[in-house]
Amino acid sequence: MARNARSAAQGCIFCAIAVRQAEASVVHEDETIVVFMDLNPVTPGHLLVVPRKHAVGLEDLDRVTSAHVWSVGHDMAQALRRSRMGCEGINVLLCDGEAAFQTVFHFHLHVIPRYAGDGWTVKAKSLKRERSLLDSDAQAIKDAIASTD
Ligand code: AMP
Ligand code: ZN
Repeated sequence: MARNARSAAQGCIFCAIAVRQAEASVVHEDETIVVFMDLNPVTPGHLLVVPRKHAVGLEDLDRVTSAHVWSVGHDMAQALRRSRMGCEGINVLLCDGEAAFQTVFHFHLHVIPRYAGDGWTVKAKSLKRERSLLDSDAQAIKDAIASTD
């Protein structure tokens, strides 16, 4: 591990869980990821899919690891659906950055089972955005895609 990554990982609770130095209720693991129960679930069965390698967010998570995290998230969603927990729906959530409510700065994907009337809500007020602004937003993103090709 590079020196920066090593110092970033010091004191990281998810790094500690990945090497089993901190307690967790592990559901699934392989050489790249570990999946465990969220300590403060928003609904029963709330899981976190966590790469073993320390990365803070999307910008520093390598593509191969990212693809595996999302693929395991899909598997976990199916497992929740098929489990005896009575899961009726799934939300998959990624909080990338403080503005997006990230509180643990080691990349993780939330897989959240939903039950009718479970009370978990995401409060959002949709914007009315006129076509010219939608088009300029689209262009800004297209420019970014072109510059990362
Ligand atoms: P986020 O807001 O996406 O950064 O969410 C971090 C999540 O990690 C929260 O849902 C916490 O409940 C969860 N969490 C924090 N510490 C632990 C821990 N030691 N074991 C399991 N989950 C944790
Ligand atoms: Zn970490």
